[in-house]
Amino acid sequence: MAQVTLNTLRKVYPNGFEAVKPASFTIEKGEFVVLVGPSGCGKSTMLRMIAGLEDITQGDLQIGDRIVNDVDPADRDIAMVFQNYALYPHMTVRKNIGYGLKNRKIAKDVIDQKVTDAANLLNLNDYLDRKPSQLSGGQRQRVAMGRAIVRDPSLFLFDEPLSNLDAKLRNQMRIEIKALQRRLGVTSVYVTHDQVEAMTMADRIIVMNGGEIEQIGTPAQVYHSPASTFVASFMGAPPMNLLDALVAENAAMIGGQTIAQFAGHGPVTLGIRPEDILPDPNGDFEINVTLIEELGAHRILHATWAGQTIMVSVAKDVTAETGTMHVAIKSDALSFFDAQTGRRL
Ligand code: ATP
Repeated sequence: MAQVTLNTLRKVYPNGFEAVKPASFTIEKGEFVVLVGPSGCGKSTMLRMIAGLEDITQGDLQIGDRIVNDVDPADRDIAMVFQNYALYPHMTVRKNIGYGLKNRKIAKDVIDQKVTDAANLLNLNDYLDRKPSQLSGGQRQRVAMGRAIVRDPSLFLFDEPLSNLDAKLRNQMRIEIKALQRRLGVTSVYVTHDQVEAMTMADRIIVMNGGEIEQIGTPAQVYHSPASTFVASFMGAPPMNLLDALVAENAAMIGGQTIAQFAGHGPVTLGIRPEDILPDPNGDFEINVTLIEELGAHRILHATWAGQTIMVSVAKDVTAETGTMHVAIKSDALSFFDAQTGRRL
């Protein structure tokens, strides 16, 4: 496994569009890093530069102890799993998994052993003689994983590998991929636009927006201490409530009521996660619930607070009705952002 270092890595496409602004970070050996962000934020471009499928405009990319800017993809000691799996339809599962090795002129019995080991690991033993068209989506996904595993790469790259699966299978496969990565200990970079995948799979998350890195942190850091209003609203479903507040005399206020002590002066954006607003008959704050969304294990209350829209998440056994409701706020769970720049204060 390898450490990967990006040093002011930048991508400008030939049409002049800067898809990745200078980015610097290090991925530790064995770490599972997820690049997440909305469509067009530059995450695939970043991954493709690491893979060697896209030229690097500026900066250095180091994999292990080599600068690999000018190294061919085939010589970077990486294996990539794509969204469409890129399986050969006319080949059996066995041949698909072993294909990359055959190209490298590895002895047949060694290939057979590696394919058998990978098939064991991935529960594909019963399917080795089938063609991809005779497999389910999840099984095809595993074949693509098998092909990556047999190469013993020092780095796995994943480009939205679960996008073509239904919701249930996605949940199952993300657990499988994560468990497999833990077991093999291979450094991994995983691209997705799905914040749930990022939260559940990553050791560290890199949140991108408009070609720039907004935040690098553990899932807990990104969720509880978002670096910007963008991260606050991108990570978490429903997203963090972002409210206009006013700071005066060391207190942040909404609708003239003090929410928390806060040093400074003037307008700020106050962030509160929906689960940090607690229905409480003795609570200091009054909200007006306009709609209740039933989600089984919990409910989302859509409400207004001093003229601003908010969402409150409550457990299913909490009684809730539309109309006036008293709530308390977990004051240690608040985030404050600059009202102009959206950066965390
Ligand atoms: P998605 O989730 O939709 O794949 P992404 O975050 O992976 O999005 P990229 O594919 O990295 O985004 O693209 C980033 C930006 O670069 C987009 O605005 C895209 O239109 C632009 N782009 C991608 N390829 C090229 C190209 N060959 N020439 C010019 N612009 C490009």
